[in-house]
Amino acid sequence: MKPLSLNTVTVREKWGLAECIEGCARHGIPGISPWRDVLAAMGVDAAARQIRDAGLTLTGLCRGGMFPAADAAGRAAAIEDNRRAIEEAHKLQARSLVMVCGGLPPGSKDIQGARRMVREGLETILPEARAAGVTLGLEPLHPMTCADRSVLSTLGQALDLCAALGEGVGVVLDVYHVWWDPELSHQMARAAGKIAGFHICDWLVPTTDLVFDRGMPGDGVIDISGISQMVSAAGYDGFVEVELLSRRWWAEEPDEVLRIMKERHARVV
Ligand code: ZN
Repeated sequence: MKPLSLNTVTVREKWGLAECIEGCARHGIPGISPWRDVLAAMGVDAAARQIRDAGLTLTGLCRGGMFPAADAAGRAAAIEDNRRAIEEAHKLQARSLVMVCGGLPPGSKDIQGARRMVREGLETILPEARAAGVTLGLEPLHPMTCADRSVLSTLGQALDLCAALGEGVGVVLDVYHVWWDPELSHQMARAAGKIAGFHICDWLVPTTDLVFDRGMPGDGVIDISGISQMVSAAGYDGFVEVELLSRRWWAEEPDEVLRIMKERHARVV
């Protein structure tokens, strides 16, 4: 079974990064994946030390990307931010830097242009990522987020970008974003050696919020174990991150959330 990792966004309303690290150690969860806001609040050096001392693997740093912008200054600022993210991922020895590539610039209707900006942004930062030994993990996001968060929508698109960009780029597979894709199993056959991360949660019916209503694995309609098997068949034997953006779960006691996600991980992965 793929080992479990806590994506810190899952308990973001009640725990900072230090508490997440202690929580993982207490619950026997061997991996952690921080978001950069909690990382900045704790300080990168302190976080790196405490994660190492707790014996945890840093499975992914969330996130880089967000390349498209209305003007050159905006695009340059995005590149700068990605450079800082690469440095942080390097210091933390993160297995990958998760890339949420960005949506349309405000007011724009030019989706092809936005996709070009994503590709150009990745090309610009890739030499530095390679030099730092940081894998850029392209995470395709569900098309409902295309306007504001990611014009990279499918695994097929992400693999095409991987092939075009070459070494140092992989894909991060999140069941919430790819489960609906009729091409999924077909594309997974192309993903061998390219999977840099695996995220799970569940799709609730009905879903009441497009961002903050993700379900605990096992509570929705995604065939998580089926997708997990495909991921294994593609040669991925790394960690599985539970990543919940959910007002319902944010209201719970984090220790209870970790206990339940551990139990679900054992059952559905
Ligand atoms: Zn994800």
